[in-house]
Amino acid sequence: MLENLSQRLGRVVKTIRGQARLTEANTQEMMREVRLALLEADVALPVVKTFVEQVKQKAMGQEVAASLSPGQALVGVVNRELTDLMGGDLGPEAGELSLAVQPPAVILMAGLQGAGKTTTTGKLARWLAQGNHVQQGRKSGKKKVAVVSTDVYRPAAIEQLKTVAKQADVDWIASESNQKPADIARAALEHAKRQHIDVLIVDTAGRLGIDEVMMQEIQMLHQILNPVETLFVVDAMQGQDAVNTARAFGEALPLTGVVLTKLDGDARGGAALSVRQVTGKPLKFVGVSEKLDGLEPFYPDRMAQRVLGMGDIVSLVEQAQQNIDMAQAEKLASKMKSGDKFDLNDFREQIAQVKKMGDMGSLLEKLPGEMAAAASQLQGGQAEKQLRRTEGILNSMTPLERAKPELLKASRKRRIAAGAGVPVQEVNRLLKQFEQMQDMMKKMKKGGMAKMMRAMGG
Ligand code: GDP
Repeated sequence: MLENLSQRLGRVVKTIRGQARLTEANTQEMMREVRLALLEADVALPVVKTFVEQVKQKAMGQEVAASLSPGQALVGVVNRELTDLMGGDLGPEAGELSLAVQPPAVILMAGLQGAGKTTTTGKLARWLAQGNHVQQGRKSGKKKVAVVSTDVYRPAAIEQLKTVAKQADVDWIASESNQKPADIARAALEHAKRQHIDVLIVDTAGRLGIDEVMMQEIQMLHQILNPVETLFVVDAMQGQDAVNTARAFGEALPLTGVVLTKLDGDARGGAALSVRQVTGKPLKFVGVSEKLDGLEPFYPDRMAQRVLGMGDIVSLVEQAQQNIDMAQAEKLASKMKSGDKFDLNDFREQIAQVKKMGDMGSLLEKLPGEMAAAASQLQGGQAEKQLRRTEGILNSMTPLERAKPELLKASRKRRIAAGAGVPVQEVNRLLKQFEQMQDMMKKMKKGGMAKMMRAMGG
């Protein structure tokens, strides 16, 4: 995600940092690089112009000139301006939804066909149902969520939402293609009230372009539902087109925010950087995978750091905390420390935990600069694939075999390999790796870190 932009800006940041003195000439040169990087990322031209102007002005200012390390100070300016550009001026509420109303709080989803509305409806429903939403710095607790589709033009769309709702484990309110969207909306609202639903998310019909009929329909739905949030879903890969569509939509409907989907496939990042400035609406969430856990609240400050190659450790830790069972993790850690009690059952549990942390790609990307670049080599799902294979092998063993790997003689290995659909060599490799791991743990226990480092030749 945004690899091109962050690699380029990361390089500029490195050069800036290294400057012992900032002169008019080298500042100009660096700002030219920033400008080019932004234009290449398909950021809207007026946005680029304003941004560069702002940074230049501040670069000339006292704060930078008087600083002991002007390069570092200039990086600070770029970081702050980038944060503001993406909505940092909105304060901590930027990634939040206003759910503190008499329930049901209604969220109306709008967007063109294929933008990712239905998928995002499911992601958001799951997000809220699992209690991941944060309001004023606090988790707002698990919500009772229901979803409904008013897309009567494509029966497949209603079915798709039903499937997604099931995966997200939230209520799905039935609708039929022979109903009127307005009737569906009224009935869903009634249903939600009766069932004490906290949040009702309404997925709507999209079209290929903005047209009068679609606008009228969604305006009517807006009137009936009186939503607390009206989110416009756009595909980041559409770049500036996405931003322009969002602006046009925002002129006809009181949008409260934008969701940018498919950021995982967007190497450039223009939409993420321009949407706030061009539409005047906050970017609230970004979609980072096709899967239902692929939704992240959008924090301008964290995104700025990520784009500048400085990493986003805060989100990384949060993502890990959200999905990991801490008690379980601690149990595993203490077993690892004791070395001899750690068997293949524990190893399997460890892999399950890592998998639960979420999409590997989206985790690795949050590492700073070079580490992220190295990690991107693993992309295309390589890391996940390997993890799945290892898990497959472990799953083909019986609990007893996992507890006592020494039982694994040739015939058992053949059975396990066949069960996991891998060659026997791979089973051997896994066992070898595990032995090395155990060895290392034992060394750690006996001689502490120093001895282990020596053993590793370090
Ligand atoms: P709708 O027509 O607006 O309801 O769009 P859908 O929800 O059906 O999504 C269209 C396609 O985009 C589907 O194949 C989704 O799996 C895919 N999609 C949606 N969001 C994301 C995302 O954040 N990342 C990726 N990679 N794919 C997404």
